[in-house]
Amino acid sequence: MKTVAFANRKGGTGKTTSAVSIAACIAQMGKRVILLDLDPQANATAALGVERAGQGCGSQALFAGEVGCRKLVRETMIEKLAVIPSGSDLAVIEYGLSADRKKKWQGILRKRIGDLKKEYDMVVIDCPPSIGPLSVNALVAADGVVVTLQCDYFSLEGLAEFAANIERLRAAHNSQLVLFGLLKTMYDARTLLSRQVAEQLERHFGTKVFDSPIPRTVRLAEAPSHGLPISLYAPASAAASAYQEVSADLLRRMA
Ligand code: ADP
Ligand code: MG
Repeated sequence: MKTVAFANRKGGTGKTTSAVSIAACIAQMGKRVILLDLDPQANATAALGVERAGQGCGSQALFAGEVGCRKLVRETMIEKLAVIPSGSDLAVIEYGLSADRKKKWQGILRKRIGDLKKEYDMVVIDCPPSIGPLSVNALVAADGVVVTLQCDYFSLEGLAEFAANIERLRAAHNSQLVLFGLLKTMYDARTLLSRQVAEQLERHFGTKVFDSPIPRTVRLAEAPSHGLPISLYAPASAAASAYQEVSADLLRRMA
């Protein structure tokens, strides 16, 4: 079982859209995938047409440690894709973790998802837009991370700092953590800015940048309101094929 975290300290960079789209693609390729929603906003949960978790019934329960991991799993409309939903309780858990300075809270998630090893080929974690305790748990549990970047000026600005955060985390808690890749999202080939940001990324990070950028399209913004991943909502769209290519590439990078 491989675990990949979709992370960035910034919000609105396409983490959730990418986690959902890629998890769906890989499940449709025949792998058994589980998406773990670690954002109290529960956007990934909703985007897959699954109800938000009530008290003690979602990813928050993983940290509370009261319920077995398997009991939290919900099916989705895609046969091989399951989800552990999130709910607003998760914000309270995050606060509790950060207040507890003594316990080894960083490794809680890693331990808990071990229970899923037999049933799934891949765990996809959708992180909240911060490098707080929930994201730290995700990065300690993960084999690797995909960083999503909106192709604008500010996305480059925070990137070096985020990379340094990941580096520190690797040194302290998870020496095998790999950067699977940087994914350009909301890319508009007609704008000079998108092209310049892409160029800069490639100059600094080389082949770590996924080849296929995800185009900016209203289809991706619409899909969650139908509770469908892009591969079902608009299978013939350029965005669906871009996510398809990135998914295949990610599988190669994880192998
Ligand atoms: P994050 O999880 O990083 O906060 P989201 O995936 O929720 O980011 O994306 C932020 C917003 O942008 C959402 O409304 C989403 O539907 C929209 N969005 C994401 N990717 C694209 C895209 N490629 N084109 C157009 N809209 C997008
Ligand atoms: Mg999100």
